[in-house]
Amino acid sequence: MAKHPSRRRPSPETAADPPAGSVVPPMPAAPLGAALPTLPLALPAPGSPPGPPREVAPAPVIPKPAPLPAAELAALERTADLDAEAETAARRGQPTPIAAGAPAAAPVASDLFLRPGIPSMSVVMLAGELAPVAKIGGLADVVAGLSRELEIRGHHVEILLPKYDCLRWHHIQGLTPSYHDLWVPWYGGAIHTTVYYGSVQGRRCFFLEPHSADRFFDRGKVYGDHDDVLRFAFFCRAALEFLFKTGRHPEIIHCHDWQTALAPVLLYEIYQPLGMHHSRVCFTIHNFKHQGLCGDGVLRATGLNRPAHFFAGDRLGGGAPGALNLMKGGIVYSNFVNTVSPTYAGEAKDHGGAFGLERTLQAHAGKYGGILNGLDYEVFNPERDEHIPAHYSAATIARKYDNKRALRQRLLLADNAKPIVAYIGRLDAQKGLDLVRHAIFYCINHGAQFVLLGSGAEPGIDRHFRHLKQEINENPDSHLEIGFDETLAPLIYAGADLLIVPSRFEPCGLTQLIAMRYGTIPVVRAVGGLADTVFDKDYSDRPLHERNGYVFHHDDIRGLESALSRAIACYYQYPDHFRQLMLNAMRCDYSWNVPGQHYLNVYDFIRDK
Ligand code: ADP
Repeated sequence: MAKHPSRRRPSPETAADPPAGSVVPPMPAAPLGAALPTLPLALPAPGSPPGPPREVAPAPVIPKPAPLPAAELAALERTADLDAEAETAARRGQPTPIAAGAPAAAPVASDLFLRPGIPSMSVVMLAGELAPVAKIGGLADVVAGLSRELEIRGHHVEILLPKYDCLRWHHIQGLTPSYHDLWVPWYGGAIHTTVYYGSVQGRRCFFLEPHSADRFFDRGKVYGDHDDVLRFAFFCRAALEFLFKTGRHPEIIHCHDWQTALAPVLLYEIYQPLGMHHSRVCFTIHNFKHQGLCGDGVLRATGLNRPAHFFAGDRLGGGAPGALNLMKGGIVYSNFVNTVSPTYAGEAKDHGGAFGLERTLQAHAGKYGGILNGLDYEVFNPERDEHIPAHYSAATIARKYDNKRALRQRLLLADNAKPIVAYIGRLDAQKGLDLVRHAIFYCINHGAQFVLLGSGAEPGIDRHFRHLKQEINENPDSHLEIGFDETLAPLIYAGADLLIVPSRFEPCGLTQLIAMRYGTIPVVRAVGGLADTVFDKDYSDRPLHERNGYVFHHDDIRGLESALSRAIACYYQYPDHFRQLMLNAMRCDYSWNVPGQHYLNVYDFIRDK
């Protein structure tokens, strides 16, 4: 028995076997999205720091555009409005808008979201990804889920995306050209661009298709080409040109990640002087690792020109000599900047986690915060998921085991009493792949089965896991699947017992949230959003009913094993505890309900009053 009771709860690792001299550092207290600091209501006045001074940019050279196809656009807008109204009405149990004259249903709880304090807003999302049409990772889910939440609350949302040749077309309804002749200024000339309208799961989307020899979005992939910076710089310029030419002056332009970080720069430097005074920009950083570093070519291409102006250390310069940083531009020029969990916001600003942008974040701390991502509980729903054979809820959790059987059948795993441990995610160093690899062998040797679904962009890593797969898949207790599979992922979430997320750093992480929604227990490293969402069964100081997983701190094999071994032991030795943990996980609310309100608070704060 300890002689002196310690005020600090032991971490799982130290409890198992205290490493000499090691202390788990406390996680930084990070700002909450709810507690918003005082923000500038508009971009700073001319000449005032920290934002760049206002200057009238030379009018871009734009060939005379074809007349606005007003009738066509209006018709499409009406259709889009009806799509959204129908979905909103369905959510409220009301008749769809076209069923005119039908009696209105009594107001239900969701009406409370239409808070009189925040009148309806017009929001345009600019992003490189949208689920399910262009999904690489969590960004796609976030853009789709947040947009839907905003619409349910009565706000008007449009999403602008590149028209990639690899879009999952079957998820787009009514794809039609809506603006034939958009001329996008580019290198002193202009690129003829067609804008298509289409509805994606009820969301209004515009897809931008340039007609030029560059074939910017005809690459068979979303990211990963040598000219990604130019491809997305073009997207930003085209998006703003489209908003400008069609007279759309949304109150909020919500930009996501470096791919759209040039939009606030273009808005401030070019389009505000042309009359777009109304729009305010919220910039969400989903990962500081990818920042869009480039040379001055992007300035000439987009018409920003003036390298001396933009290379300044308080604008896009100040890093490596001759390099511009697009993400830095997004931070400097936006009205509000956030990342996707409170802990990651603190890690980035104060603990060296911003890949060189720490000082920029500190300089702009007054307009910076962390808002935890939500999950679209309609899309990720074990009661209705079309990709799983047995639907279930917390009340019928035993049916989850039918999915476990189905998963084993699909992956040719042995049908035995072992728990299934899973990993789903990109095969990126960020995700702690050496620990993932270790977990595979640990599970096989410690009475568990292991399933991995991973998609890799880096050829070396991809090759490594394909090689491992050949070695491992012979074993009836393990299966590795390399690639992106939107039908297998839900079956794994539903069929596995445990899901590991041993990330080096993790801005938010959605896989642990999805796992919990499906009653699968996360085993995570306490970083970023993982620390904000998973609370250890044995060591958390949260009330028992809020504990929902296993957590480790040390970024090493011992840390991982300390959590994984407890999870596997609990599965075998205390099945009733394990069952309770599953119920706790399923009963968490990581929907868009709370974060949706946080974003609305931000929008309302920065919008033109
Ligand atoms: P990140 O954004 O860093 O990739 P997140 O955890 O935030 O990681 O989001 C990952 C999203 O992508 C989740 O919806 C997850 O289910 C999905 N996903 C990741 N890899 C795959 C894959 N190989 N096949 C299917 N879905 C995947």
